[in-house]
Amino acid sequence: MTNKQIGKVLNQIGSLLILQGENTFKTRAYTNAARRVETLSEPAEALVEEDRLGKVPGLGASMVRHITELVRDGESSYHQALVQEVPAGFQEMLTISGLGARKIRTIYDHLGIDTVGELEYACRENRLVKLDGFGVKTQERVLKGIDLIKRSRGFHLLDRALIEARSLVDDLLRDPDVWRVEIAGDVRRRMEVIRGIDIVVAHPDRERIMAGLHRFGQVQEDDGRDLTVTGPTGIPVHVHCVTDDAFAVTLYHWTGSDDHRTRIARHADDRGITITDRHVIHDRAVVPCSDESVIYDILGLQYIPPELREGGKEIELAAQNRLPVLPVRADIRGLIHNHTSYSDGMHSLAEMAEGARARGFGYIAICDHSRTAAYAQGLSIERVMEQQQEIEALNARYDDFRILKGIESDILPDGSLDYPDEVLATFDLVVASVHSVFNMSEADMTERMVRAIRNPYTTILGHPTGRLLLARDGYPVDVARLIDEAVAHDVAIEVNANPHRLDLDWRHLDYGMNRGARFSIGPDAHHVDELDYVDYGLSMVRKGGVTADRLLNHLPAGELVRMKDGKYSTAAS
Ligand SMILES: [Zn+2]
Ligand SMILES: [Zn+2]
Repeated sequence: MTNKQIGKVLNQIGSLLILQGENTFKTRAYTNAARRVETLSEPAEALVEEDRLGKVPGLGASMVRHITELVRDGESSYHQALVQEVPAGFQEMLTISGLGARKIRTIYDHLGIDTVGELEYACRENRLVKLDGFGVKTQERVLKGIDLIKRSRGFHLLDRALIEARSLVDDLLRDPDVWRVEIAGDVRRRMEVIRGIDIVVAHPDRERIMAGLHRFGQVQEDDGRDLTVTGPTGIPVHVHCVTDDAFAVTLYHWTGSDDHRTRIARHADDRGITITDRHVIHDRAVVPCSDESVIYDILGLQYIPPELREGGKEIELAAQNRLPVLPVRADIRGLIHNHTSYSDGMHSLAEMAEGARARGFGYIAICDHSRTAAYAQGLSIERVMEQQQEIEALNARYDDFRILKGIESDILPDGSLDYPDEVLATFDLVVASVHSVFNMSEADMTERMVRAIRNPYTTILGHPTGRLLLARDGYPVDVARLIDEAVAHDVAIEVNANPHRLDLDWRHLDYGMNRGARFSIGPDAHHVDELDYVDYGLSMVRKGGVTADRLLNHLPAGELVRMKDGKYSTAAS
């Protein structure tokens, strides 16, 4: 073992001890010893061999023991034990460049964060910037480091994949030889987490396309037809190259899902129709398919939107002409649940309002954090009143737009909301969310949230399971019970549109639809640009088969505000 390698292990021991919260005196002994060994003028191995290590100034007896063990066994049992003891999340954070053990410990001590996923979320909410010794630069560097870790894990969030896929599509369309390009696969079906991107390209000349792909990233040939390109984000892009006559069926094929395709194949088989990965064949002849709707048409089915192609009941419904009419962006009248610089948002109230107005929405509901959420500068009652005055002043200037006075109230451990009733009554709407004390049993967590749902001031149950995709599972909670209680008490279930959350999971929405539940898409924007998160939420409600009439965001502002009057009067009677 070289002196450098020994120094590295000693430094790691020092870092692990810092992460464990050990005192500086103890941790410094290791980092100092590391420096000592690294700057020795002869190999530590020789010193061990000749029993001279103890004579090196600054190396105490325990350091001599560690170094001797390293030289003899190639590893240190103390180091190994620490690796076992210190939470894996901390050690993963150590691999982020620009984030040493001391910073990680500070983050943990102030924000309670011990996984990379939570750390990323905290960066996106600008929580790091406010810590001692941190700044915007550190936060940016940390985000870059986290990105790298996530890429290496092979899974990616929908937003990253969609941005990358769209940029490649735009790139390809610039080539005058390309006839048609579409995103297929999980991205087209708007899965919340994806492994790779699929793109179908119709073109007359494969070589020309190759040139474009080489500009985008590293190209790997799968076979004579398909290619895989890995671009700047590291997400593999599978490019399926076809002639124009095979475009629609190929797009259908690569859109999937496997379950959907298997069921469609069975349905087709019953009618003597075969669908290959390129063509639809009937009576031994290729059926010309100019677009996907022809495929469904020939099978006697309504066109099934990609988001619904998950192999559930969509084929049965399409056969009976009963597919839900899925909402589109024009159905969304307002953006509900957004943060400003009053709490942990990046932009001012006026900027957020202008952002929503510029995007063509009729209203924005501002829902900053409530007073218990100290980590997010939750609003004291005085700040609530200040904000409401500013909202009224801004509203006086608009005749085509309205800012609603909302709050994202913490659901306290006992299920109560975070302000007295007279303060809660001043809001136009209340999003109630769990932000702390996750380690409850399923029964207790469900009771806690049911109490919040029964509170007459609650309008919306925010991100109901608290999950962070690829980072943290939701807390255990009985989702069906939450939905039933929400329906009984006229509370809407949020489909949080932040691509890290997408919570409630779209797989539960069908149950809610059957029970008569209402839903609210919440961008949970902490930045003006994040107002566009609403599109991810829209994708999720489409996947869940939710119709526009069940969306709070489809209501005009006046009707949304009047919801609370109805609820208070029922509560009073
Ligand atoms: Zn929240
Ligand atoms: Zn929020």
